[in-house]
Amino acid sequence: MSYNRVGVVTGANKGIGLAIVRQLALQYPASPLNNGAFLIYLTARDKGRGEAAVKDLEKDAQLKQAKALKADGGLSEIKFHMLDITDSGSIKSLADHVKEAHGEGIDFVINNAGIAMNGFDANVVKATLDCNYYKTLEACHAFLPLLKPTGRLVNVASMVGHLNKYSDDVRTRFLSSKTEDDVTSIVKDFASAVEAGKEKEAGFPSAAYAVSKAGLIGGTRALARVEKEKGSGVLINCCCPGYVNTDMTKGNRKKTPDEGAKTPVHLAIQDIYGKTGTFWQYEEEIEW
Ligand code: NDP
Repeated sequence: MSYNRVGVVTGANKGIGLAIVRQLALQYPASPLNNGAFLIYLTARDKGRGEAAVKDLEKDAQLKQAKALKADGGLSEIKFHMLDITDSGSIKSLADHVKEAHGEGIDFVINNAGIAMNGFDANVVKATLDCNYYKTLEACHAFLPLLKPTGRLVNVASMVGHLNKYSDDVRTRFLSSKTEDDVTSIVKDFASAVEAGKEKEAGFPSAAYAVSKAGLIGGTRALARVEKEKGSGVLINCCCPGYVNTDMTKGNRKKTPDEGAKTPVHLAIQDIYGKTGTFWQYEEEIEW
């Protein structure tokens, strides 16, 4: 079967990731702009939770209604594939599968998976940076070659990665970073400063999650810049989904996962006027 678009969503068994998959599946036949079925890989690190999420979407009333309207075989399809982004073997296994199944290339990847741990110490910093920064960028590098020349790569970062929490010196270093190595050196300085108990003196907030997302925004900008210089047409952007009520925020936020899914979905499939290396919220580009 041929699909209008094929894409991958990470950390999609619940929360914003699950809502992203649902909204993508609803694009057809909802929008005349997206004339044709989508194939969306709902990925999760746990097989049981991922498969259960696919089953839940099969029971979704709006998706059922869309199917009833379009019983011509052109329906969007949701397939489960395992992906633990902190496991390089798991990243490779998904990349190999996509390459084998979609040699012509896929249309988008939305890196939504992320963690926010309680507490603040060197171990929390290590695990948070590993998942939200290092491994998310590793996944970007593994998936980039799978994208069509017109493809999209979207990283779900956060407003807490905004640079207003840093010393002028660190802020300037982030903003002038040209490569991922430049950004990684800042992230490493943060981890070393935490180990020494001196992150505040070094110009950082005492917040692992915030720095991991600032790193992700910087890393996304650097990756987009380098890819553009190489002549790639893939648009690589990041966004904040807004403050959304999910397990991560323990019910403390107002927006629904569906509202949170809007900006990542927009960056993956709508006309964004060729923008790459930018940071978005509420379907608009914002300053970092
Ligand atoms: P949830 O905690 O509800 O969902 C996070 C998802 O990421 C889960 O599916 C989780 O899987 C998955 N995940 C975690 N670690 C890994 C991993 N190693 N490999 C693969 N998947 C993993 O959070 P949200 O839906 O709220 O968050 C989604 C994204 O949005 C995150 O990147 C978050 O940082 C970002 N964000 C959220 C905001 C909010 O207000 N909610 C605000 C700003 C940004 P599992 O179920 O197995 O744990």
